[in-house]
Order: sequence, then structure tokens, then C-alpha cells
Amino acid sequence: MLNIVLFGPPGAGKGTQSERLIQKYGLVHLSTGDIFRANIKGETELGKLAKSYMDQGALVPDEVTINMLRSEVLKHPEANGFIFDGFPRTNAQAVALDAFLSELNTTISIMLALEVEEAELRTRLLLRGQNSGRPDDVNPEIIQKRIDVYNNETKPVKDFYQGQNKFVSINGIGEIDEISTRLYQAIDALK
Ligand code: ADP
Repeated sequence: MLNIVLFGPPGAGKGTQSERLIQKYGLVHLSTGDIFRANIKGETELGKLAKSYMDQGALVPDEVTINMLRSEVLKHPEANGFIFDGFPRTNAQAVALDAFLSELNTTISIMLALEVEEAELRTRLLLRGQNSGRPDDVNPEIIQKRIDVYNNETKPVKDFYQGQNKFVSINGIGEIDEISTRLYQAIDALK
């Protein structure tokens, strides 16, 4: 199996690049943000809970997020592999993911980290807020909160994968195609 953690701050381009990667490698895309938003739209209990955190730019609690992700993985027993987009976002999530994948006799193949500097992220997110309909992209304070949460809670997850020699840094600035090519090269180098 090819299991990819696509990592990066809010607005780094994880969603855009995931679309390319699932096509090219035939993977299942699991975006925790997308799954939470689908639950908000469907007005489920999980959606109501997630919304109260997401609207503030805070993380949904680990236990809720981990259980949700686990049940999504189990829905795809025939998968060639997964792209985890927006997960893991804390060390506890990374530890839980490892444990869970080992129960399924598989593991993370690589963490691809899209690197984009903060000023560019702020510009991209405000632009996205003009047409995405995402409430967390409209308010500069909420955007800043998400960037801060990334720096404080999520960035350390890099060290977890660096410790397993699975971490690859990818320049996330440039044309979309150019960035896809960088990702393909990193993945193809695994073979
Ligand atoms: P972005 O990459 O722009 O932050 P996402 O769609 O990945 O957008 O996430 C949107 C929000 O969903 C996050 O700010 C957070 O509230 C929640 N969320 C997504 N993934 C996780 C996760 N793994 N753990 C906790 N909360 C999450």
C-alpha cells in the first residue's frame, strides 16, 4: 500500500494537490476538514460538535477526530492506499494513526510537507474566503488563529515522521503543475 500524509499549514495547497495524487496513484483521499464540513452540511451530531471548534479556528478534540478517521479508513478495505490530508494534526493523532495502521498490517510510506511562508498563506486564505463559502477563511483573526495552532500543535508532527525517516519537504510555491511534479518525484523515489 502507498499511504501518504500530505502535510502543511492551512492554505498550503493540500486539497488541490490531493486531487492530482489520487488520480495518478489511485488512492483514497481522506480529508478530515472535508469530512467535518460534510457532517456540518448534513447537520449530524459530529458536524455540530466540529463546527463549534472550526468556526473558532481551533482543532476538533483528538479523540473525536481519531475515531472519525478510523471509521473512514475501515470503509475502504480494498484501497490501494490513502492520502491523509489534514491528519494527523497533533502528536497524539500521529501515534494513533501508526497504531491503527499496524493493526491493518500497513504503515505510512511518506510524509510530504508543503512549505509555504506565512505571508503567502494569509493572502491565499483571504482570497479563498471570497468564494469558498468557508466561514473560517473570511476573518483575518480566525486565519491567524489557525496559523498559530499549526505552528504550536501541528508543526511538531514533522519530527515524529523525521524520526522514522519518512519526512520529505516540498517547496509549495510555484505553479500548481510544478508543485505536483515535485510531489510525484518524491513518491516515485520510494519505489
Ligand atoms: P485548512 O488546511 O485550511 O486549515 P482543513 O479543511 O484541513 O483546512 O481544516 C479546517 C478545520 O477543520 C481546522 O481548522 C480544524 O478546526 C478542523 N480539523 C481538520 N482536521 C483536523 C484534525 N486532524 N484534528 C483536529 N481538527 C481538525
